[in-house]
This record gives sequence, C-alpha cells and structure tokens, in this order.
Amino acid sequence: MIIMMRPDASEREVEQISEMLRAHGLAPRRSHNAGRTVIGALGTAGATSVPGLPELCDQLREAPGVEAVLPVSQPYQLASREFHPEPTEVRIPAPAGEVVIGGEQIVMMAGPCTVESEAQLLAAAHAAREGGATILRGGAYKPSTSPYGFRGLGVAGLELLARARAETGLAVVTEVMTPAEVELVCAYTDILQVGARNMQNYYLLDEVGRSTRPVLLKRGLAATIEEWLLAAEYILAQGNPNVILCERGIRSFERLTRNTVDINAVPLVKQLSHLPVIVDPSQGTGKRSLVGPVALAAVAAGADGLIVEIHPQPDAALKDGAQSLTLEQYAGLMPQVRAVAAAVRRSVALPQTLQTTPVAQAPSVVALASAG
Ligand code: PEP
Ligand code: MN
Repeated sequence: MIIMMRPDASEREVEQISEMLRAHGLAPRRSHNAGRTVIGALGTAGATSVPGLPELCDQLREAPGVEAVLPVSQPYQLASREFHPEPTEVRIPAPAGEVVIGGEQIVMMAGPCTVESEAQLLAAAHAAREGGATILRGGAYKPSTSPYGFRGLGVAGLELLARARAETGLAVVTEVMTPAEVELVCAYTDILQVGARNMQNYYLLDEVGRSTRPVLLKRGLAATIEEWLLAAEYILAQGNPNVILCERGIRSFERLTRNTVDINAVPLVKQLSHLPVIVDPSQGTGKRSLVGPVALAAVAAGADGLIVEIHPQPDAALKDGAQSLTLEQYAGLMPQVRAVAAAVRRSVALPQTLQTTPVAQAPSVVALASAG
C-alpha cells in the first residue's frame, strides 16, 4: 500500500503515519513525487494476509496530512512506478566525470567479456573510451557453464580493471558472484554486476542491497519480467536505490542464436518501473554479426544504455569470442548508435575528456537503412 501525503503535510504528520505502520509490523519507506511525500508500506504489496490491514487503511485515510491511501497493484513495490513515478537516475562518480544512467543521455559500456591480460584489457579499454563509452566492462569472476571453462583471473583481474580505470578515467562494471566477495569487489569497481545465473540468488541480492555501489542486475535466463523486478525489489528493500536493469536475452526454442533478446521488455519495464533499463546485445545474440543491429534496435526501443563485448582479437578470446566485436567494428558501430539515439531525441554520453573533441559526423538514419 502507498500513502500519498498532502503537499502541505508536516514532518510530524509524516512521522505519525510511519509510526502507525511500524505498530502493525510494516516498514515505512519514503519517496517524493511532485512536491509531496509518498510512503510505501513494505510488506503489503499483493498481500492479503496482513492482520488488520483493512482497518489500518481506514485509520490512515482519516489521519492528518494524508491525501490518499492506494493499494499496490504489483507484487513489487519500491521498484514500481506507482511508488516512484519519476525515472530514477543512477549517478556513478568516475575519474573522467560523473556518469548518469537513466537520464536523457544513453550510456555506453564496452569491454571484454573476461579480463585475460593487461595488454588485452588496456587495448579494449582505450578503444572503448575512444569510441565514446563511459563505462568499461570486464569479468574477473566468471560464471562458466562447464567446470573446465575459464572462470576468470579473480583478484588479479580486479587489479587490472583498477589499472585500466586509472589510465582511461572510465568507470568499471564487473561481476560479483558470492555474498562473501561483495566487499572485495566493491573495493575495485564502480558498479556491481549481478549475472543472469545469479538473478535469483537472494542472499547475493540482499548483500549487494546492503552495499552503496550501484548494481547492474541482469535478467535471468528464464526469468519473467515480474521475477526480474522482484529481484530488483530485494536490492531496493535493503536500502540500495541504485539498480540498473539489464535485458540480456532469454532462453527460447530458437537455436540459431544464443538467446532471444526480449525487446518488448525495454518499453514495458520502463512503464512498470522507474529504474533504468539497458540491453546487452552480446549475450543476447551470441553472434558478432547481430550485435550491431540489435544494439540499434535497443536504443530505438528506449534503452538507457548498452553493454557490449569487444576484444582486440575476438578469435583468440578465452570466453565469448564469437559474440565479441573487434575494436574496429565497435568504432564503426558507435556513430550508428548516435544516429539512432538522435532519431529518438536522445544523445550518447561521452567521457568528459572527449567532450571537447568533435565527434565524427553520425550518418543519417536514412543512410543507415539504405546501407542494409
Ligand atoms: C557477461 O556479461 O559476460 C555474462 C556472463 O553475462 P550474463 O550473466 O548475462 O550471462
Ligand atoms: Mn560474456
């Protein structure tokens, strides 16, 4: 349930409502909408079994300062647009300037699937920045379907990411796989990535929710949109408001692509939730030749950003080479991303260090379409 306070409600009145909720074992959580305080009563979303809830609703409606008491129509609450009508902007301080995800500008994240060596990471990081990315991706702890596959360099990989961050000024996003490693990974990264395979690891969600780092939450391999938003709710409920959702394709009957990017999810999640949504066309397609077209489709559908795998020698990559763009392909894609962004009245954020350098003229959308 959501309690909308009147615009002139006093702090005392807001606190009184919070006390009434606590007395019923409910956790009050505040947000603000168009100059008023909105109080979410955590634990009541979709609940029919809270004792005395109808009577409490009546008392709340009569309480001073209250304008309306609204039921929550979704099983998640803090992640819903009803609780937080304005879009959330996740702010990431980085050496090359603050990056904002969820605002007017589209944010580009690029880098190798997996950190393999200093030379590989630095080549990809410099290319990422030159192309206009503001965030460097790279896995140090990798989920591997086969126990014999490469599982990442661990701490040595985190140290290389810190080196690349210092050299390029880019913010870093990297995956954390266990609650016990959250503190360690936080010491090296600007954004914690929760991978698709861990979207429903509730202990991990609780732990990243207790941290202050923004969290990039991938959609699970077979997760519904509602399950994905409930996973985000876990993080928000622990007090971390900075969640970025990432559509990375779901399992379908189709075998010619690795996954099926659910493009519907982009506008739908933006209607249901205030959280920013980005798309990963690399895991989403599994094929280098499809990454560019699907990246452009994601921007056209309203994505707030892209996360793309790039590699100086994709054919020699230890992981996900088939879906990694060469550095040249990535450089060629970026003007197209800017053109599609402009067509939907957005722009692509640039690292501050590049902002003064004129960006190569983006081709028009018409030119792109006729180029096939
Ligand atoms: C990745 O980003 O390299 C990755 C493993 O992603 P996902 O969790 O979406 O499979
Ligand atoms: Mn990958």
